[in-house]
Amino acid sequence: MGPPGVGKGTYAAMLSQAFGIPHVSSGELLRREVASGTDLGRLVSKYMAQGELVPDSLVNRVLFERLSKPDCRRGFVLDGYPRTLSQAEALEATFPLDLAILLTAPLEVVVERLAGRLYCPACGEVYHEKWRPPARPGVCDKCGHALIKRADDAPEVVARRYSEYLSSSKALAEFYERRGKLFVFDASGDARVLCPRLVEKIEELLRGKEVVKL
Ligand SMILES: [Zn+2]
Repeated sequence: MGPPGVGKGTYAAMLSQAFGIPHVSSGELLRREVASGTDLGRLVSKYMAQGELVPDSLVNRVLFERLSKPDCRRGFVLDGYPRTLSQAEALEATFPLDLAILLTAPLEVVVERLAGRLYCPACGEVYHEKWRPPARPGVCDKCGHALIKRADDAPEVVARRYSEYLSSSKALAEFYERRGKLFVFDASGDARVLCPRLVEKIEELLRGKEVVKL
């Protein structure tokens, strides 16, 4: 969990690699379900096309189907889910988590990260003006298309999303805190430096708990 721009996707990918378990991103999963045209996917796309929030019950179904696959038997890293208290309750009843990691970073850090982001609308590659600039300014290295910025990444929009996140996620954090599963991690530095520390910390927290479900 964490506000937009804190690096959830980056950390989830690194943790997935470090522990050898799948990275399950709810956004990607829902998009894939829609693209595959299954009954579930058609239902999801109806909500998405109308610009509506996909109901929790439907999101849960898509997620639980994924978490039931054999590659998740030893564990998984969730990214972008659960987002609501009702999702968390359903998840805890079906696939109880070992840990809920809340990544934090001050607003200024998040604004700097997101304001420099550049996207390729053709192939989906993401760049950063400061940390991952394209070889030729404004042009995608992979496909040569012109890069764009997203309106969502403008500092004033990020500030609004950040405060919205803080108020909406409080109940979720408390839900895991009450169960002794919440771990808060300061993610305001460089993820490549911080991630090995997070891995160590997780190993320490899980030691003694029955985590490897073979
Ligand atoms: Zn491209």
